Amino acid sequence: MSGPEEGASGGGADRRAELVQGLGRVRARVADACAAAGRRTTEVTLVVVTKTYPADDVAALAALGVRDVGEAREQELRDKRERLDPVGGTGEPLLRWHVVGRLQRNKARSVGRLADVVHSVDDPRLVVPLARGAADAGRTLGCFAQVSLDGDPARGGAPVDDLPALCDLLAGTDGVRLLGLMAVAPLGADPASSFARLASLAAGVAASYPGADALSAGMSGDLEQALAHGATHLRVGAAVLGPRPPTH
Ligand SMILES: *Cc1c(COP(=O)(O)O)cnc(C)c1O
Repeated sequence: MSGPEEGASGGGADRRAELVQGLGRVRARVADACAAAGRRTTEVTLVVVTKTYPADDVAALAALGVRDVGEAREQELRDKRERLDPVGGTGEPLLRWHVVGRLQRNKARSVGRLADVVHSVDDPRLVVPLARGAADAGRTLGCFAQVSLDGDPARGGAPVDDLPALCDLLAGTDGVRLLGLMAVAPLGADPASSFARLASLAAGVAASYPGADALSAGMSGDLEQALAHGATHLRVGAAVLGPRPPTH
């Protein structure tokens, strides 16, 4: 048996070696895909999605130079921030915490307080509570509007037709800032054509809202296609951290 559990309970050096390898492989993939697309790696933020992996993994990643991590659940985000924020030492947290999972409305204010960036804003009713949370924390919260490319509500994302209203609200509410669009490639579809469609939607958003030109797309299995279509933020979990521990 091996896996994140073992890493959490003292398999430290082995786990660190696994993370060095995983991170190295993903960084090499990003560099190759950027080279192929004529893009610079400095335009791309790699968010390592640490949801369900132990806080020790996040600490090890921070020590390896990772600055952006992604969580899906409010409670887990809270627990990990409490444990890890002092890592920075000087009062400035070392890590930027991204939220990539579906948001429950009753947790949105707390998420707004805890997160630095939320990738999964897909319902106008989330915007005011997120903004309130950001105001509680005295910060502005960066938000991506998540769009559904296949109209399957189970996987999150606003329908394409609802995007203008959602983007207007994010752009017009104090405490939040519209960064751009986010999507997950639909299951069973060719990711390249999904991301091509996403890129054209994102171009429309960037033209309508100054500064909202970021694009959160690409996961462990499709980051090359996402980079070819202009992704600025990759959300990668398993390819760095290994098979995900089962969720409870
Ligand atoms: C879990 C998750 C990821 C990371 O997925 P991997 O397959 O582990 O890379 C990315 N984006 C979202 C929205 C997720 O929920």
